[in-house]
Amino acid sequence: MNLQALIEDIRQETLPFYDQGKVADYIPALASVRPRQFGFAIQTLDGRQYACGDADVAFSIQSISKAFMLALTLQADGEELWRHVGKEPSGNPFNSLVQLEYEHGIPRNPFINAGALVVTDRAIGHFGDAHSHLLAWLRAESGNAALSADETIAASEREHGDRNAALAHFMKSYGNLIQPVETVLNQYFHNCSIAMSCRELARAGLFLANHGASPQTGRHYLTRSQAKQVNAVMLTCGTYDAAGEFAYRVGLPVKSGVGGGLLAVIPGKMSIAVWSPQLDARGNSVLGLEALDRFTTATGLSIF
Ligand code: GLU
Repeated sequence: MNLQALIEDIRQETLPFYDQGKVADYIPALASVRPRQFGFAIQTLDGRQYACGDADVAFSIQSISKAFMLALTLQADGEELWRHVGKEPSGNPFNSLVQLEYEHGIPRNPFINAGALVVTDRAIGHFGDAHSHLLAWLRAESGNAALSADETIAASEREHGDRNAALAHFMKSYGNLIQPVETVLNQYFHNCSIAMSCRELARAGLFLANHGASPQTGRHYLTRSQAKQVNAVMLTCGTYDAAGEFAYRVGLPVKSGVGGGLLAVIPGKMSIAVWSPQLDARGNSVLGLEALDRFTTATGLSIF
C-alpha cells in the first residue's frame, strides 16, 4: 500500500472537520495557536518516514509527555511504580480531584494529572532533574538536539496551575509524593511544554512499537514486558475518558494531549503522530481522531 498517498488522501478527507472543535484555552498561552493546522507523520521500524501537512510545525506535546515519562520511570522503578499509581481507566476528567480522596491518594493511572505528578515525583527520585533526563531522551530519539520546553507555555501553566497544585498537595498529605510540591509541579509543567513536530514525535515514540528498543539509536529503554504495559495503559487510559471510543474507532494504543497531538503505536510496525489543535469536548483532537480512524480502517493495521 502507498502510505504517502493514503495519508495525503486522509488529510483531504479530514479538512472538512475544521472548526468542529475548539483550541484549548484553559492554559492561555495554548489559546494563541493557529487553529486550522494538521500534521501527520509515520515512522516505520525499517527506517521509512511518511509525512504530510504541517508535520514539521512544532506544537506543545502536553500530556503526550506522560507516555514518555511513564516509560522512563518504569525503566528505573520497575514494578514498585505500580504501588504508587494504578493502571485502570478513571472515567473522570483528567484533572479530577474526587476519586483521589476515595482511593487514598493513589491515582487511578499514570495519565490523569494526579498520576503523572506521582510518576514525575518518582522520576525526580531516580534522576534528580527528570525534565532534563526526558529532554535528553527525546533529543536523541527525535534527531533534534535543539528540542526544548516552551518557557512561555510553562509559565502560563504554572500561573493557571492551581488544580494541579491542589492534586499534588493532596497526594502529599497521603504520603504519595516525596519531593517538594513546587519541584514536582515545575518539572511536570516543563515536560508538558516541550515543543515537537509530528515527524519528531513519531521518531521518538518508535521504541514503543519495537518492544521497548529504539531501532534508531539501538538503545533498549524497556523490557518487552514493560513496553507491553505502557502500550496497554495507552490503549485503556491514553485519551482521557474517550479511551473506549478510540479503541472502537482506531484500535491502537494512543496518547493524546491538549495541544492537539496524538501519538499512536502499531506494535511491530510503526509509530504515528498526528496533530491538529482543535479539540472535542473530551480534550482530544477532532481531526486527529478522524485521521487515525481512517488510517486503521484503510490499512487494517489496528491491534484488533
Ligand atoms: N499541562 C496540562 C495540564 O496539566 C496537560 C493537560 C493534557 O494535555 O492533558 O493541565
